[in-house]
Amino acid sequence: MVRQRRPINQDLFSKGGIITERDPDFCIVRLRMPAGMISPAQLKEVGEIAARYGVEKVHLTTRQTMEFPHVDPSKLEPLLADLEKNGTPLGAERQEVVNVTSCLGTRNCKFGIIDSVALAEEIDKKFFGKDLPVKVRIAISSCPNGCESERLNEIGITGIQKPIRDPGLCTGCGTCCHYCREKAIEVIDGIVVLHPGKCMECGFCILPCPFHIIQGAPPEYKITVGGHRGRHPKIGRHLITVKTQEDVIRVVDKIIYWIYRQASTDMMLPEQLDELEFDKFKQSITQMIEG
Ligand code: SF4
Ligand code: SF4
Ligand code: SF4
Repeated sequence: MVRQRRPINQDLFSKGGIITERDPDFCIVRLRMPAGMISPAQLKEVGEIAARYGVEKVHLTTRQTMEFPHVDPSKLEPLLADLEKNGTPLGAERQEVVNVTSCLGTRNCKFGIIDSVALAEEIDKKFFGKDLPVKVRIAISSCPNGCESERLNEIGITGIQKPIRDPGLCTGCGTCCHYCREKAIEVIDGIVVLHPGKCMECGFCILPCPFHIIQGAPPEYKITVGGHRGRHPKIGRHLITVKTQEDVIRVVDKIIYWIYRQASTDMMLPEQLDELEFDKFKQSITQMIEG
């Protein structure tokens, strides 16, 4: 027996957060949730909305958002209105800037260097859903531990902090060395020595020194481009390191502008950057930033 398709508003299907399901009579609705942050009240309401529209289980995605599987397309309009009202609107999943992910950073993690949640929210506000020739995932880790695997995203941002050896009197107690996982700091002849070549700028050695001999330089933001997960994983390459959240927004703006103007639809971004040669891409972004 041939199943009758329900009448659906096709315009809604052009929206990135609505994904055609295996069963073509139904769809998946993905939400927008920058940094994966949601209040208890919003979370409760998401559950209530899901139940109201017959969703049996909500799925948590890898990009720190949620999706409703098996939604009846004829109910999309009121469902989307309810989600919008709850502050958890429709997300994105096509050739566009999709949900921005972040760890909790300085708000809650003892290793945090930058306020990655605030940065994710700012990036979301400015760039979420922008139509592009390729999908752009942006992820932020507040320190080089990289819990968000940010370098496996088209744009990755990592908080870093350089340790600075104060000329004060080091007792050679070795406490700081104990905290360094990179063996980038050691006590030689009773005084501490830093090896910048090995240092990841995680800042873990700064706080433990009982005599404050190791100070932290101001936090910085390391930006990588061209990372990718999935079928052909690739680690993003270092583009630039900047000093403020505003600088990050400016650089992301230039990268997205470049993708909008120069990238093509038939290849993933990392491959396009390989073809172009990364140094040329880096040069053109640097010129745009300076220009
Ligand atoms: S990346 Fe660093 S700051 Fe973020 S959660 Fe992991 S350890 Fe904490
Ligand atoms: S900043 Fe991190 S990697 Fe560098 S010396 Fe300190 S603990 Fe080691
Ligand atoms: S820098 Fe501080 S923690 Fe490290 S060896 Fe010297 S006194 Fe100890």
